[in-house]
Amino acid sequence: NHLPMAVQAKIEDHPCYSDEAHNYFARMHVPVASRCNIQCNYCNRKFDCANETRPGVVSKRLKPLEAVDKVLAVAKEIPELSVVGIAGPGDAFASAKQTMQTITELSRVAPNLKLCVSTNGLMLPEHVDELVAKGVEHVTVTINTLRPEVGAKIYAWIYYDGQRLSGEKAARILIGRQLEAVSMLTQLGVLVKVNTVYIPGVNDRCIVEVSREIQRRGAFIHNVMPLISKPEFGTAFSKAGQREPTAAELDAVREESSGSIQIMKHCRLCRADAIGRLGQDKRAMFESAGTPSVA
Ligand code: SF4
Ligand code: SF4
Repeated sequence: NHLPMAVQAKIEDHPCYSDEAHNYFARMHVPVASRCNIQCNYCNRKFDCANETRPGVVSKRLKPLEAVDKVLAVAKEIPELSVVGIAGPGDAFASAKQTMQTITELSRVAPNLKLCVSTNGLMLPEHVDELVAKGVEHVTVTINTLRPEVGAKIYAWIYYDGQRLSGEKAARILIGRQLEAVSMLTQLGVLVKVNTVYIPGVNDRCIVEVSREIQRRGAFIHNVMPLISKPEFGTAFSKAGQREPTAAELDAVREESSGSIQIMKHCRLCRADAIGRLGQDKRAMFESAGTPSVA
């Protein structure tokens, strides 16, 4: 493990980042962010955000104060709970009010829990200062390419500054905002993980470029995830016949990137309402606080 000591100290009880910790500590996602401000071609918006969570799953949305009550109930039953994340079902900053209210309240009533947020990054720069002020230590940004011409194939549109934009223009804005946010966060000591969805034939050459650029900007880990394109998910990519990468292709791009940055391999793509240790699902124990529906 070649991570600096300061980073090691921040991840030692975080189940997602430390191979050791994922056996002992638990995480929980609270599904408070329901809307999205972009349209990825691998997403079907009837389901949770495919940037961080498992495809084909529908989480029941919670209001911020319901989410806080649920966290407190879970913390009582699962003392090894160390991290609470906001990872959908949409984008954390498309409904920034809900996300920030949840974070503010949690940092007040449960200051010992680490807070994590994941986002497509479009509206992240303006929230960096507030996230840091509220003690958020971990942020995940999904960056699939640095090239606008490739981005135009991955994102159908973005909603930005009161307008719906598409094509290379939209991708250029999104990529610029993502990179700006990564630099701002790392300069303030926040641990940044970057997710990239590997779409064979579309962003193959982009993966290592993303690894290098985010390493330069201070991110500490790169999570390269395979595109999931099952016909039953009804995404733009699956309708267009876009295939998933093979295991060998995924290994090859991860291997190429591992020369630049630490590559995450044990991300389980948890639901936006996951509870428990990684690989464990304790949602059923807390059904009265929000019954999850499974697609
Ligand atoms: Fe779907 Fe997430 Fe992309 Fe939004 S950011 S379109 S919720 S995958
Ligand atoms: Fe951790 Fe990945 Fe699950 Fe998020 S989706 S809680 S990073 S294992």
